[in-house]
Amino acid sequence: TSANDDVTCQCMMAASLGRRDKKATATRLKADLNRTDNSSGVRQLQELLDAVLNPEKPAADTEALDWCKCLIAGGEGFEDFCKTVRSYDNATLCGLVWTANFVAYRCRTCGISPCMSLCAECFNNGDHTGHDFNMFRSQAGGACDCGDSNVMRESGFCRRHRLRTGENVPSIPRDLLLMSEMVLPRFILCIIQYLRDGYIEPDTSTERDLQKVLQQLEPQISFLEELTKMGGAMRTVLTKILTNQQTFKDLSMGQEENLYAKRNYDKYLSALKNSGLVSVEEKCHGAAADVTGDAEGGAGAVVLLGKTTITLYIKHIFINFLSAVAVNDFKKHKCFLEELLFWTIKYEFPQKMVTFLLNMLPDQDYKITFTKTFVQHYAFIMKTLMKSHESDTMSNRIVHISVQLFSNEELARHVTEECQLLDIMVTVLLYMMESCLIKSELQDEENSRHVVVNCSEALLKNNTYWPLVSDFINILSHQSVAKNFLEDHSLLMLWMSFVSFFQGMNLNKRELNEHVEFESQTYYAAFAAELEACAQPMWGLLTHCKVKETQEYTKTVVRYCLETLQIWFDAIGFIDEPAPNQVTFHLPLHRYYAMFLSKAVKCQGLDLDSLLPDQEMLMKIMVHPLQIQACLSEIHSNMWVRNGLQIKGQAMTYVQSHFCNSMIDPDIYLLQVCASRLDPDYFISSVFERFKVVDLLTMASQHQNAVLDSEQERPMLEGALTFLVILTSLRVHLGMTDDEILRAEMVSQLCMNDRTHSALLDLIPENPNPKSGIVPGSCSFEEMLSAVADFKAPVFEPGGSMQQGMYTPKAEVWEKEFDPIMVVLRTVYRRDVQSAMDRYSAFLKQSGIHTGNPWPPYKERTPLHPCYKGLTKLLHCKTLHIVIFTLLYKIWMDHQNMSEHVLCMVLYLIELGLDNQVQDNKEDEEHCHDSWFPGTNLLSNLHHVINFVRVRVPETAPEVKREAPPSTSTEASSYGQNLREAQVFSLVAERRRKFQEIINRSNTEATQVVRPKSSSTRWVPPGTPPQLVTEILEIRESMLSLLIKLHQKLSSKQNSLSASWLEDMDTSRHTHGDGITAIERILTKAAMRSCQIKRSIQDICGKVCPPVPPKKNSPTDKKTMDKEERRQRARERQQKLLAEFASRQKSFMETAMDVESPDTEAAMDLGASEVMESEVLYDCVICGQSGPSTEDRPTGLVVLLQASSVLGHRCKSKEAKKLPTSDEEHIYAADTCGVAHDVRLTLMQQFFKDSSCLQSVSIGWDGGVYVQTCGHTLHIDCHKSYMESLRNDQVLQGFSVDKGEFTCPLCRQFANSVLPCRPGRETEAGAWHTPTNKKTFVLVKEVEDLQEKLGPFPVSFTIQPGTESNLSKEMELVIKDIKNTTQKKYMDYGKNPGSPDNDFLFMYSVARTNLELELVHRGGNLCSGGASAAAKRSCLNQLFHVLAMHMRLYSIDSAYNPWTKLTQVTQMELTGECFGNERPEVPMLFRDVPSLLIIFVLTMPQPLRKEHFTCVVKMLYNLQFTQALAALSTKFSPEERQAWSTSGALKKNAANAETSFEVLLSHVISELSKDNSVYKVNAEETLMVSVWSPQSIEFSLQQFCLPFLRLSCLLQHHLYGDNLTSCLEEEEFSSLAVCLGLLSSAPPSNTVHSASCLKWAVSTFDLVSQWCTEVTGLFQMQAEQSLTLLVQEPQWASPRLLQLPDNYNIIFQYYHRKACTACKKVPKDPALCLVCGTFVCLKGVCCKQQGICECVLHSQHCGAATGIFLLINASVIIIIRGHRFCLWGSVYLDAHGEEDRDLRRGKPLFLCEERYRVLEQQWVSHTFDHINKRWGPHYNGL
Ligand SMILES: [Zn+2]
Ligand SMILES: [Zn+2]
Ligand SMILES: [Zn+2]
Ligand SMILES: [Zn+2]
Ligand SMILES: [Zn+2]
Ligand SMILES: [Zn+2]
Ligand SMILES: [Zn+2]
Ligand SMILES: [Zn+2]
Repeated sequence: TSANDDVTCQCMMAASLGRRDKKATATRLKADLNRTDNSSGVRQLQELLDAVLNPEKPAADTEALDWCKCLIAGGEGFEDFCKTVRSYDNATLCGLVWTANFVAYRCRTCGISPCMSLCAECFNNGDHTGHDFNMFRSQAGGACDCGDSNVMRESGFCRRHRLRTGENVPSIPRDLLLMSEMVLPRFILCIIQYLRDGYIEPDTSTERDLQKVLQQLEPQISFLEELTKMGGAMRTVLTKILTNQQTFKDLSMGQEENLYAKRNYDKYLSALKNSGLVSVEEKCHGAAADVTGDAEGGAGAVVLLGKTTITLYIKHIFINFLSAVAVNDFKKHKCFLEELLFWTIKYEFPQKMVTFLLNMLPDQDYKITFTKTFVQHYAFIMKTLMKSHESDTMSNRIVHISVQLFSNEELARHVTEECQLLDIMVTVLLYMMESCLIKSELQDEENSRHVVVNCSEALLKNNTYWPLVSDFINILSHQSVAKNFLEDHSLLMLWMSFVSFFQGMNLNKRELNEHVEFESQTYYAAFAAELEACAQPMWGLLTHCKVKETQEYTKTVVRYCLETLQIWFDAIGFIDEPAPNQVTFHLPLHRYYAMFLSKAVKCQGLDLDSLLPDQEMLMKIMVHPLQIQACLSEIHSNMWVRNGLQIKGQAMTYVQSHFCNSMIDPDIYLLQVCASRLDPDYFISSVFERFKVVDLLTMASQHQNAVLDSEQERPMLEGALTFLVILTSLRVHLGMTDDEILRAEMVSQLCMNDRTHSALLDLIPENPNPKSGIVPGSCSFEEMLSAVADFKAPVFEPGGSMQQGMYTPKAEVWEKEFDPIMVVLRTVYRRDVQSAMDRYSAFLKQSGIHTGNPWPPYKERTPLHPCYKGLTKLLHCKTLHIVIFTLLYKIWMDHQNMSEHVLCMVLYLIELGLDNQVQDNKEDEEHCHDSWFPGTNLLSNLHHVINFVRVRVPETAPEVKREAPPSTSTEASSYGQNLREAQVFSLVAERRRKFQEIINRSNTEATQVVRPKSSSTRWVPPGTPPQLVTEILEIRESMLSLLIKLHQKLSSKQNSLSASWLEDMDTSRHTHGDGITAIERILTKAAMRSCQIKRSIQDICGKVCPPVPPKKNSPTDKKTMDKEERRQRARERQQKLLAEFASRQKSFMETAMDVESPDTEAAMDLGASEVMESEVLYDCVICGQSGPSTEDRPTGLVVLLQASSVLGHRCKSKEAKKLPTSDEEHIYAADTCGVAHDVRLTLMQQFFKDSSCLQSVSIGWDGGVYVQTCGHTLHIDCHKSYMESLRNDQVLQGFSVDKGEFTCPLCRQFANSVLPCRPGRETEAGAWHTPTNKKTFVLVKEVEDLQEKLGPFPVSFTIQPGTESNLSKEMELVIKDIKNTTQKKYMDYGKNPGSPDNDFLFMYSVARTNLELELVHRGGNLCSGGASAAAKRSCLNQLFHVLAMHMRLYSIDSAYNPWTKLTQVTQMELTGECFGNERPEVPMLFRDVPSLLIIFVLTMPQPLRKEHFTCVVKMLYNLQFTQALAALSTKFSPEERQAWSTSGALKKNAANAETSFEVLLSHVISELSKDNSVYKVNAEETLMVSVWSPQSIEFSLQQFCLPFLRLSCLLQHHLYGDNLTSCLEEEEFSSLAVCLGLLSSAPPSNTVHSASCLKWAVSTFDLVSQWCTEVTGLFQMQAEQSLTLLVQEPQWASPRLLQLPDNYNIIFQYYHRKACTACKKVPKDPALCLVCGTFVCLKGVCCKQQGICECVLHSQHCGAATGIFLLINASVIIIIRGHRFCLWGSVYLDAHGEEDRDLRRGKPLFLCEERYRVLEQQWVSHTFDHINKRWGPHYNGL
């Protein structure tokens, strides 16, 4: 034993040693174990493991894990070991497991199971082109099915999993996994022991923290997961360990002597006991004994159901079942896998464990064992779920597992057969619902024995049953499993009793007195439950009952349905009439019955009658669905208002697209079946009775209604008639094919509104049309769509509203297929019916078919399936004909509560009757009751004349007075005759009589059944004050004559139909039209079908009709007319509003996008010239007064100030930069305008005097302030009170008044400041404007004088010194606003922050920014011209004056005034050295000429005479030209430079040498060659291939000078109102030169010489030499640096956003898993800056700085508070503007032109270039604020 001790000792020591020793030990042990006799090795290993894997040590100790890794690797490095094992991976499945939020794919083309999913890698490596696939974000988690041919077709496998057959993988060396086999069992045991130890029952008092236990175990479980990732080889080893029963037996109980193990094992046993898995065993013996007895037969059990309470019954079944199924088979766990799953459940499915268990699934042996184990624990799982506090998370995890197991048909069948999965599921479902049953209050509240689920229970409200139901639906989708289910009668019976728990749930009782206090929203739980728990399994089962061979299944289901229904009727105590004022929308038993019937007839060729019950049962069955239809009408007639809005919600849900197929459609179908088999008179009278309109159906002019208020009568009557029309015309289940149904659904949805593809997809009911699945032999959704609809591509409306791609009905669809009945059936919102009719009438108008208000068109129907022919009997029954006759009469007589709609429906019913004749023409087969009509055929009843009708009327009715008692005997006798002849009509009586008849016929015990209360024929309902008199009305009309009279009435013409009218009838043109057309069409149809009718019509028409009583002024008529008129007026008003709105939008656009509208500019030009003459008057948009802007009461322009970096983002290249979509691509910012200017200024500041530097450049490329206006003006004091009122306004519309933000009171454009208007004329005219003849040198001197005299601003002349006017105060205020607009860092570029020099630079740069931006908006040049009107709407002129007023505070030291250097040759001093230590000024050749221009203009007294402006421009042009020459000369090769120098020098003495570029070039070259020459640098760099020609030089010079010319010209345009002339691009130079007065007239374009624009005031060569010397004299500076400053790059391309790839997936795949460069994590919400490509963490705390999130932060750096971001996970763009943000929309659209926000549909998305251009345009034109609505504050949280 000593040896043993030694080993143990060694191992113990080793355990505490370092890694190296572990390695050594592992190597040695592996070698030992590899020997033939390995017993000592085994022992040593066991002892080592005993020490290392000690469960009494805390789990968090990672030492054990290190040991295991070392041992498993057998001395190798663990990483290397993993690699080696992976190389033996023989798995053919991918099996990658993912958790929630993972992005995966689903391909319906490749999927066999609808649950099939693929990981991105497998998807991208497979070929799915043209397939119906989508990307989705996983909710519950999932696993990749690639390689599993049970779940998907092999064609969709990726390359890797298609090729890998496992054969080319070498077999595994024996010793590779030897150590794993030895070590892992102990490791797993250790985990299990930890789990046993850590578990605490939920009901114990000690604090339960399962999470903590799991957290400590995290490394261990992760290690298991890591092992599974080594591939097939390792999974095989794990499977062996997990499923081996011997190993489990040996290890799990622990050795006797180990006390810990014993205690540990006891814990397991007690947990097992508590779980109920074992204890049931004992309980059930007793319980089951009580109730057994008839547990044998299913039928017996159902009988039992009727007698005892269902709850008891269920308990019995459940216990019975558990004893039979689960417990026999199950005592204790037999392998590691079983116990591991047990603990997984106990710990409520920890994510890591789930992932491990799922990762193992690619191993087939494992999968089978695991599935069995899962099924064995199924009941336990659901029980745990019900108790869980986090049922949502747990549900997801359960489904995550179960969907992997049950989607596989083979496996599902296997466990169904071996483990009774179906029994388990159904029983567990019953058991689950049993926990929340309550007594049903339907019908007989007190004695009801029916129980229903309580929808307000958490189980239903939280959808806790979902995983179970979803599993059930999943396994039923397999044919073989469904077959098992349908063949098992006791299962079916159980299932029906489950369904009956939902029958009649969520009962609504109509509130008659008070409004409900609390509107419960539980109804949605009820609808969801019926859909998910009842309807979905039903549809699942139905898919397997589609052929003749499955007839038996259907018969069985139908039988049990009827049995269960019968039990239900008995349980609720139903006899023949529904309890009043109750409705439940939930009749799943009815619906099961209906849908199986429909399938049986449609697909299985079964005879309907063989499946129908007796008449009595049919009458019962019809009651509840009919009750729902009547209640729908009641709800819409506001009879349920006291029940609150939720009842409307129920009515809407009932017909809504996701529910209609499982609710209203089966109900209507069932009613159709009943109608086709029941007596039609009974059916029709029942309908009117349920709709409560019986009292209304009298020919008396007045009546009393006991059940309805007067205002409810009309809508209820309309409802009843509409229902009858739907019932008799709908063919969805009565003969239409699936394709026809799909087409009709599509047409009705499209007629209501144009729809996007996704909306339409959502609105088409799923059954019987799987929306996207390609069903063989049938039309796909897409084909059908293209057959009925036209695609309207997404268009952009001015104003920025973005439309999506829409589908709209084709013209022929409107003409032939528009079906108002289908529309009514499918409308959730009533307004949709009106919308469809409006669109229909618009179509008719547009196509010239009908101009008036059309009636709903009549549509011919698909022929009825022979089984349902009985339905037409409804149209041919006396009761209906009496109703029709009565209603026609009432309408003609203008009785109360009649409407156009009533007439329309009545006519529809007549026409349906004419089109659907009963086959057997055997009239009067029965002896007809001696009343009203001779027979039942409509055609013969049409012309039957009714002479007298007996009615009961109130004593006050007009009829009573009229019918005075007859005086003469003849009259008396005729009266008696009439009395006998007079017809009586009572619907209720009729129905009761029929009912009795049927009952008697079918049931000998009828007397017992008929409700004793119902006293046979009562005309007046009890309770009505019977103040009625019987009167006899003389009618003498037939339906036909009434129709003709109504025709006259509608056309307001007597004799509207001539006798010969029928002869020239043409039916075809009568499809569309109004009521007149409809009557004509009916008359024609009737005449065509019967010559007797034809004759009657001719008779009636031929008769000279008695004058129709003037009906025009009758109150009803007036009412309808008024109504119509009102509607018309409302429509007109709306139209006007819309037009107004449109024009306002248009004007928005014009102001916003100045550039875009040359037409309007030209038009406004005329007005502008007049204004120039007099003082400008401004309209104040607040007070409405008009007047000049004065010092005292200044007016101001409404402006929006915003910081902008648009200019700074310009590049040299015209091509936009590409967005990187791989790690290899990058964006470099160095070549942008902003960076270039920064570099330049910094370089200058190194060498030159700071104040001089700050005058030699402009800033504001980044963060410059842009000023724009809507053009509206207001008094500044008015504005102040306006702001005050806004501040008090509680409702702030997304802007903050405190920051000065407001919207223009007139146009609502966003603004944040007011720019004061300068008094006086808008632009300077007259003397200021006239051309001058003064000599150049005179002007130069005058300018110099003006600059000296930086005198007071002219407007202040009138003011006493010291007192500031209101105007100047306001001007100072706006300057403050401007400064506050941008960040400090964009203002302080100088070395002394806040110095006046800085301020000076900032001020003139504001002018520069605005000029440059205007240039950008004009397209980068001035070729398109522009009238001064543009200047009027621009605020540059006003801005200039404000800036100028502010700038006069500064003075430029005259010693440094650049004007001197520009116009005078000064005594040359030694530059650089002269001021001692002080730095030199910036040489003229380094200075930015446009900046100089702005400085000069702004610092001279205002207004500036134009001659002086022109003079300044001319002098500056000289400098600009010289700079151009200097820059050009550096580009020459030395030889070329020499050549040009020489050739130019020769011409120096020619006549116009001063304006010859050759001479000047030569001069510059020779000057710059002196001393510290810039030419020294580029000797090697210049590799000019082409030789410079005079032409190319001229071109280059012009290009160099053009930006300056443009800017000057634009400035002149704004200051002096000059028009800009449009020109060709190649003529721009000359055009601008002429405009600026540099050239007197434009020469032909190709002969323009830029040098000829030069005008020198002093000696040219001396001045140029002076400028050059400034450069060459810079000794401190290196030549390269001089060169950089000398060669300016004034040309910038238009600002562009990044170029995006066409396919969104490219962006998504790269960026959705890219890590942020700042926090190194993959952001939850990644976003991308579309300006510069920066990737940021939207909303991420990780990248927050000083409370500001990264996105907002970036918008400040990148866009001076404007940011454009693409949200990667949503495909949507958001705009950040300052403290606000808005959702802009998406630039990526799917194939149907639709956005897919949040990638919900996951269809491929493509770049919409047009939208992207609009986005870019809005960015460049700074119009985000104006065009986008719905801004909100972001609180720095983005
Ligand atoms: Zn995969
Ligand atoms: Zn794959
Ligand atoms: Zn595919
Ligand atoms: Zn005003
Ligand atoms: Zn405005
Ligand atoms: Zn950016
Ligand atoms: Zn970040
Ligand atoms: Zn981050």
